[in-house]
Amino acid sequence: MKSEELFERARRCMPGGVSSPVRAYRAVGGVPRFVERGEGAYIFDVDGNRYIDYVLSYGPLILGHVHPAVLKALTEVLPKGTSFGAPTELEVELAETIKAAFPFVELVRFVNSGTEATMTAVRLARARTGRELILKFEGCYHGHADPFLVRAGSGGLTFNIPSSPGVPKGTAECTLSVPYNDRDAVEEVFGRCGEDIAAVVVEPVAGNMGVVLPQEGFLEGLRSTTKEHGALLIFDEVITGFRVEFGGISTRYNVEPDIITLGKVIGGGLPVGALCGREEVMGLLAPQGKVYQAGTLSGNPLAMKAGLATLEVLRKEMPYRTLRGRTEELADGVRELFRRKGIPCVVNYETGMFSIFFTERERVLDLEDVRTSSAELYSKVFHALLGEGVMLAPSPYESAFLSTAHDGEVIERTVEAFERALRRI
Ligand SMILES: *Cc1c(COP(=O)(O)O)cnc(C)c1O
Repeated sequence: MKSEELFERARRCMPGGVSSPVRAYRAVGGVPRFVERGEGAYIFDVDGNRYIDYVLSYGPLILGHVHPAVLKALTEVLPKGTSFGAPTELEVELAETIKAAFPFVELVRFVNSGTEATMTAVRLARARTGRELILKFEGCYHGHADPFLVRAGSGGLTFNIPSSPGVPKGTAECTLSVPYNDRDAVEEVFGRCGEDIAAVVVEPVAGNMGVVLPQEGFLEGLRSTTKEHGALLIFDEVITGFRVEFGGISTRYNVEPDIITLGKVIGGGLPVGALCGREEVMGLLAPQGKVYQAGTLSGNPLAMKAGLATLEVLRKEMPYRTLRGRTEELADGVRELFRRKGIPCVVNYETGMFSIFFTERERVLDLEDVRTSSAELYSKVFHALLGEGVMLAPSPYESAFLSTAHDGEVIERTVEAFERALRRI
């Protein structure tokens, strides 16, 4: 198997053989499939296998692989140069598109990753409030910057690294953490040290411990509590921005956070991140204000163009109802298969994203519920599905993503693959 050979080589020149931990298949066992190319809803590995792709680069590829509009856009800008370190019209256009989608957003700063966006958002919140503490939720992931590697989701959960070595004690101590959906815990923390909290940062739909939905009143409660105590509210919409609708969870719930962080979809598959909000906060960023942040490749023309092309297709086609319908169809189909097989599970979904928890619990609302889910069963299902040509993420804590290329037929094929896979486990 060529993937095996490549992984051998990779391990001799890169830590664990990968550029990002979850890719190494440690959570599910086996050898990661090295990818040759993607097309629509499918990816092809170097061993000649085709899979229906539910990883989709962990969220950015809402139009599927190599969408013609994105390819065309990139082909147009590529010959003109790949980076200038000077402003371009493309940044202005993308910033204007984001502003149009999030009515309360006045200023946008582009960076190169979601990690940079959330890291900068916290710096801004600290500068704005003159306070140091931040409050996050167990199982939420906000990138790999020091303040967030405390009870983090995604790879942090997969590898059970609750707080990474190398994070200074002082930094870790500035991060408070409570269970997702637990309004009482939030109130309690604010009652204890509300005047020291700079910001609450939250995934308004959690996607890094699997999909966990906010319960009624949770996000509204965060807004009123932060307001009352003079703290900022940061919605980390790096996954949900332009995935769940044109805009994000903040536009849907009519809750206005102080800062929104974006990434993934707005780069159309190229490296990007952004933070945005009203001028009174965003205007504190250099050079308008004194809070320093910069980037050699920030606003990169290829990333801006791929993002713009993606958002243009989304705005024109408004595929969100269809995408939601297909996600629901898949979630219902899969849930029913496991029910018939007598395997207890909860399937959570939001538009274009879902996850399966193998738990006896009725509902999965926070990390404690997530942790009752069987990782062993997930890995069995994962490998059985690989054998049937369906690729889920190689970790029980990553969400599965759909694209607009996952049409009715692809969904049907996926459910059939699940059915065959289930006979084998
Ligand atoms: C992926 C993700 C990030 C980090 O983005 P990177 O581009 O990987 O640095 C931050 N927050 C959330 C909610 C994410 O899903």
